[in-house]
Amino acid sequence: MTEMRRVTAIRNGTVIDHIPSGYAMQVIRILGINTDRATPVSFGRKDVLKIEDRELDQEDLDRLALISPAASIAIIRNHAVAEKMKVELADDLLNIARCSFSNCITKNNHEPLPQRMRVISRDPLEVRCYYCGCGQEIDELIENII
Ligand SMILES: [Zn+2]
Repeated sequence: MTEMRRVTAIRNGTVIDHIPSGYAMQVIRILGINTDRATPVSFGRKDVLKIEDRELDQEDLDRLALISPAASIAIIRNHAVAEKMKVELADDLLNIARCSFSNCITKNNHEPLPQRMRVISRDPLEVRCYYCGCGQEIDELIENII
């Protein structure tokens, strides 16, 4: 990981707080954030991520929930907090991530199915494929996010 830059105020964008420690870079990756615009800051037990000139939408939040179910989001406009949002991990994850099991029915290209996962437990996070029932490791889930 590149050296953390100091916390700096942003004019417009998004601040994500309460990311699990060490996961800020994964958040940057799954949300497709331009790294020039993102400033991850580690506070030991949690990471905070500042993103300039981008406001997260609901689809972003659904993805973020997988990595960071306790995250809180502030949308910044003109140096002030314009909106606060919370992520919420749904019971059903539709087309968020692919199943990691190689023999899963969703891997059959002749019969395309929507990618679907069930959230069994939030803390600790337990996610299973709706079709084959395979448990998904968090790191695999992040790797398989669509
Ligand atoms: Zn599966």
